[in-house]
Amino acid sequence: MPASGTTWRNLMPPSTLLRAVVTTALVAAFSVFGTASHAMAAPDLQLPFPCGQKWRLDTWAHAPAVDMVKEPDQHGTDGATLVAPAAGTVNQSYKHGNAGNMIQINHGGGYFTTYIHLQSRAVSVGDRVQRGAMIGKVGKTGETSNGHPHLHFELGRDSDGNGSASWGFAGSERVKPTFNGVTYGQSNNQTWRNVESRNCSAPSPEGTASVYGVLPDGRLTYTAIDAASGKRTHGAVVSTATLGFTPKAM
Ligand SMILES: [Zn+2]
Repeated sequence: MPASGTTWRNLMPPSTLLRAVVTTALVAAFSVFGTASHAMAAPDLQLPFPCGQKWRLDTWAHAPAVDMVKEPDQHGTDGATLVAPAAGTVNQSYKHGNAGNMIQINHGGGYFTTYIHLQSRAVSVGDRVQRGAMIGKVGKTGETSNGHPHLHFELGRDSDGNGSASWGFAGSERVKPTFNGVTYGQSNNQTWRNVESRNCSAPSPEGTASVYGVLPDGRLTYTAIDAASGKRTHGAVVSTATLGFTPKAM
């Protein structure tokens, strides 16, 4: 339950509550946050494997691109489940002559992740994916895999603004990736052992709405409501952010 004093404590049916609070508070919240969000930060990536799995990362001779094989001994790499490292929209999904099955996901802000040598692809161009959603399986397709099962991964930044990130060759738009806040791919011949996936969030439920409220002193509150049940997924949280003025009762 929300702390007493929230403006939405009493207790319309969820759908009414949701509509009323979202429309009024989001307009206000937008004016607080809307101007600060234009720095094109790289997406907040997690390792593209299920939570808890450990993988070895190598740059070999193609930093900042990274090759990934499963720890401890590479067994299970072929056919391993590949999941989205962040939400995005599938930008490319096809079988390339040298790279084999490849997928590229657009994460917004000019950033793209690219996956090659896949055994199979589970998504098509235009599909929306949430973090943790399965997108394919790791494999050894394409001549440049040399028949060795591994994921070749690239984070790309569309610096020329043509709507995708070039990949797969020195001088392409690939940049150093950061997983769970740690940056990799700085130089050739680097190895990281036992990198554990923290890709643990359940796929973001399409049926969950974020709901914002405002305390009488202007502080923002938020929670979420599951559309299927009409119930909050957690209690209301009071943010340190404020509207900057005292709102009128809604
Ligand atoms: Zn590679």
